[in-house]
Amino acid sequence: MTIYSLFFMLLLSAIPVSNTSEIRTEPAEVVTPRNIILMIGDGMGISQISAAMYVNGNKTNLEKFPVVGLHKAIAADGLITDSAAGSTALACGVRTYTGAIGVNQDTMPMMSILEEAEARGMATGLVTTSSITDATPAAFIAHVKLRNQVEDIAASFLNTEIDFLVGGGENAFTRRKTDNRNLRLELEQKGYFVSGYKEQALTDIVPVTQQNFAYFTAEEEPLSAAKGRNYLPLASNMATYFLNKRSGEKGFFLMVEGAQIEWGGHEKNSEYIISEMTDFEKAISEVLKFAERDGETLVIVTADHETGGYAINPGSTVDSLIPAFSTDQATGSLIPVFAYGPGAEYFRGIYDNTSIYARMRKSMGWASRASN
Ligand code: MG
Repeated sequence: MTIYSLFFMLLLSAIPVSNTSEIRTEPAEVVTPRNIILMIGDGMGISQISAAMYVNGNKTNLEKFPVVGLHKAIAADGLITDSAAGSTALACGVRTYTGAIGVNQDTMPMMSILEEAEARGMATGLVTTSSITDATPAAFIAHVKLRNQVEDIAASFLNTEIDFLVGGGENAFTRRKTDNRNLRLELEQKGYFVSGYKEQALTDIVPVTQQNFAYFTAEEEPLSAAKGRNYLPLASNMATYFLNKRSGEKGFFLMVEGAQIEWGGHEKNSEYIISEMTDFEKAISEVLKFAERDGETLVIVTADHETGGYAINPGSTVDSLIPAFSTDQATGSLIPVFAYGPGAEYFRGIYDNTSIYARMRKSMGWASRASN
């Protein structure tokens, strides 16, 4: 045996045996993600991202996303959407009326991507800085005519096997006016580990992945970041590791919401927007750290709509922004979409808000649904 043939044999043994015909029909760039993490900055338009970027030394974690697109945040009953119709578009792929949660214009329930992921054996999770029954998370799990049916939305959580849950709004589970059910107790009876801010800090918990996990961060709405709320990055990190371990081969779907960016817009309060954006950026960082290591996770960051008509006015410097607002309501501007990981290519271009749902499904290789 010559030194060359020995070298060649070693080389051959290092190359994994592969089916070349498969390689030809399956281009390298078409890779199916195992997990999807959808991050929604409620009310987060381009100016909200810009303001937090300037305050952060002109840097944002969103620069790490190789694919950027824009979506048309429009409702069925008007140009301007709200968080309910906006989230239903993202979660269920249907354009519906403002106030609708997981139902179409005829109030018919539409299966959400989270519910479909669960039906396909994947693990699922919701994390928010709002109440867990608020419109954005609700559209992924509930099907009710109006967003203010918070006790009906809370009861919807018992109809699912959602694996990981962190948010406020405990009273809709425990102090109900429409019935005497204690949904927190029912979650425990279903086998969930349930805790809340009154019992222990989230930082003190190491979730056991044999049990579903629910943690209430407030009885009603959680605090703002400026007033001391700090759980979103931690809960996002916990969710990725928990769901990854719990899901095994099947993968997981996780929605993370930075809910109070919008509340800053409602208050026409630039400092509120920036502190909430900064917190959401930290959550993005945690999610990206997981996705970089994992390599099989599609991460999408977008918003349901912009709120405030927020602008950075002339005279602003990187150190001193001069903000302006055109309204305290949602506006109709195009909304950015940032995508990272396998399947990210599907998110290039300009498309309807409902198309994000379709593109997530397409990236997973799920067959198209007859209802859409
Ligand atoms: Mg929201």
